[in-house]
Amino acid sequence: MTLIIAIDGPAASGKGTLARRIAVHFGLPWLDTGLLYRAVARDVMANGGDLEDVAAAAAAARLIVAETLVDPALRGPKAGDAASIVAKIPEVRAALLDYQRAFAAQGGGAVLDGRDIGTVVCPHAAVKIFVTASDEARAKRRFLEHQARGEDVTYDDLLADIRRRDERDRGRSAAPMLAAADALHLDTTELDADQAYEAVMKLIKARVAGG
Ligand code: C5P
Repeated sequence: MTLIIAIDGPAASGKGTLARRIAVHFGLPWLDTGLLYRAVARDVMANGGDLEDVAAAAAAARLIVAETLVDPALRGPKAGDAASIVAKIPEVRAALLDYQRAFAAQGGGAVLDGRDIGTVVCPHAAVKIFVTASDEARAKRRFLEHQARGEDVTYDDLLADIRRRDERDRGRSAAPMLAAADALHLDTTELDADQAYEAVMKLIKARVAGG
């Protein structure tokens, strides 16, 4: 049986942590699709290009390979913000679609997390989860992560970053961030990481058992 699990949701909703743990549980490969957009933005800037330049961004997207995604520089808030600019470009999204679908099509299945997995990349996924949390809860989580790494960022800046990014991701015309009609919803505002994982596993088991 091929089990494809699509996890979508806004920035810092906890979807990445959940996706990783779900993948380990089922013994499936996991793709954090946000890394693809982050890497495109990185490569455009490294070539001295403009993030809004369609041809430059599409060319960078066509050259994305797995090896370049393992880069700690892709993790920060600036990379996320830059990613959301190239992610508005339909040519970039089209170029990354094959990569994501090939990943999902490997034997046994896969877990993918992003913004449009359940709606565009894997509309036939067996399980779709849309993860949310309040803006404040998400900013606080990000703040604690950065603080633990000794990075100099403020809660207010992270809250503003999250809101700006959500607005861009929801408002774009190409594959906007959207829950699929058949997605299961999980609000993690009041949950810690373990509680969120237990809640999501309950949803997945019920969906898989229910067919
Ligand atoms: O999930 P992450 O924060 O790493 O995503 C970075 C940016 O990449 C998002 O804000 C969004 O603009 C874009 N993205 C997307 N579609 C996806 C995954 C990420 O547009 N499937």
